[in-house]
Amino acid sequence: MIVTKSTGSWYTVFDMGSGEEFRCRLRGALRLEGRRSTNPVVVGDEVVVEKTAESDYLITSILPRKNYLIRRSTNLSRESHIIAANIDYIYIIVSAEQPRTNPEFIDRVLVTCEAYKIPATIVVNKSDIDSGEEFREIYELAGYEVINTSVKTGEGIEELSSRLRGGLSLLTGNSGVGKSSVINAIDPSIGARVGNISHYHRKGMHTTTFSEIFRLSNGGFIIDTPGIKGFGLVDLDNDELARYFPDLSRYAPECGYYNCTHIHEPDCAVMQAFAEGKISESRYESYLKMLDDDGKHRK
Ligand code: GDP
Ligand code: ZN
Repeated sequence: MIVTKSTGSWYTVFDMGSGEEFRCRLRGALRLEGRRSTNPVVVGDEVVVEKTAESDYLITSILPRKNYLIRRSTNLSRESHIIAANIDYIYIIVSAEQPRTNPEFIDRVLVTCEAYKIPATIVVNKSDIDSGEEFREIYELAGYEVINTSVKTGEGIEELSSRLRGGLSLLTGNSGVGKSSVINAIDPSIGARVGNISHYHRKGMHTTTFSEIFRLSNGGFIIDTPGIKGFGLVDLDNDELARYFPDLSRYAPECGYYNCTHIHEPDCAVMQAFAEGKISESRYESYLKMLDDDGKHRK
């Protein structure tokens, strides 16, 4: 059974076998654990549910998580909490125009995906305005899949819908790229609900513990999060960063120095590959910017 909604005290749990939903509380032992970590049970968790004598439903245990995404907190407590567990795919919704998505945004999300080992696909929406050939070149060269969608012409909507059929997919993207429109085109019944929640988020009225997974009529599950502010890596050191750029790291074993940062070292195979056009400028630039920014925060 999978947790599809959490309010912090109540959980909605969906039974894939019977299609039934249960409203559950946590068993005491799990609640105790909850005092130590901010949220012991999160959406996406696979759980065991038991019915008590009072015909309440209790979540009695959680199965091991294959992964989980952390939301960086913005407050001073430096507390972070888990957004969702057991994510199978991440779809980064972007647009080439109106608005143009900043490639650095895409690269930051991709680094997160790599660190969590979650396969990522780039969806260039608004292909009726601009199919984003520039993005296709950059990201296919880096080894990622790029697909086009348009809510106006319907291009790619069927394909995306069928991709979402299996498993739990997280959809992310900056506001304005058409994420709500795409979800609505795939499944109007949940489109409206997602829209309401995004609106709620923008107004800053949400409580941090609230999150929800939506069940598509085709059987897939989706979770909708805003951009990079919504999720990110908690601890990422500079010397780890290149590892999460697969298009850079594939050349790193040939570098002259073991701890090469690929910025200035002689005999750097990554810089060599870059000079030969095997690594795109935009990706290498993002790498440098992320080194800079994250380095500043660290020391
Ligand atoms: P969100 O903030 O990412 O959820 O974006 P919305 O779904 O609210 O869409 C933002 C604007 O882009 C709206 O005016 C939509 O009508 C428009 N839009 C969304 N998808 C497309 C598309 O495929 N093509 C065009 N031309 N406009 C789109
Ligand atoms: Zn190097």
